[in-house]
Amino acid sequence: MSYLKYYQKENEEYPIENKKWYCEEEQIKKLVKNFCAQYLVPKDKFNPNSIVWNKKNNSGHIAGGPSRMTLHLPRCRTCSIGLLMHELGHILEFVKYGKAGHNNKHKRQMKSLIGWCRREEYFRKYCYVNPDYTPPEKEAKKEKEQEVIDTLLPKLKAALNQMEKQK
Ligand SMILES: [Zn+2]
Repeated sequence: MSYLKYYQKENEEYPIENKKWYCEEEQIKKLVKNFCAQYLVPKDKFNPNSIVWNKKNNSGHIAGGPSRMTLHLPRCRTCSIGLLMHELGHILEFVKYGKAGHNNKHKRQMKSLIGWCRREEYFRKYCYVNPDYTPPEKEAKKEKEQEVIDTLLPKLKAALNQMEKQK
């Protein structure tokens, strides 16, 4: 599979992480530190402080490895949480297998990392919505439903409380 196809598949699999949720420099640094702590990444293999901001392009990659890896991130110092997890997936691959590529091993790391971000709700804590993002119809509908729930639930609870008091 060409790398472009691999990226395309990944985009389809994690559209929200790749298109909607973005983080800035400070948040990226925190996420990388959290990642090293959570996945017990040995410091001699990758130091969370060794982020290199690209001089020319707005893409990401990993250099070095299997030890003394450096994480190269976009020149603009912002990126999607999906791109960040893609690169961290390569670091995990290097730590576990000594090499990195766009294959099933990377896919597994990526799946684990995205699951971790979702569980920890990092998009809420560390991300902002990419201004160029337009939600697909389905998502807009879901958001609307959530909005209804969010407004109705407190009212319902208050009503129930009131009933309890009257008992
Ligand atoms: Zn890659």
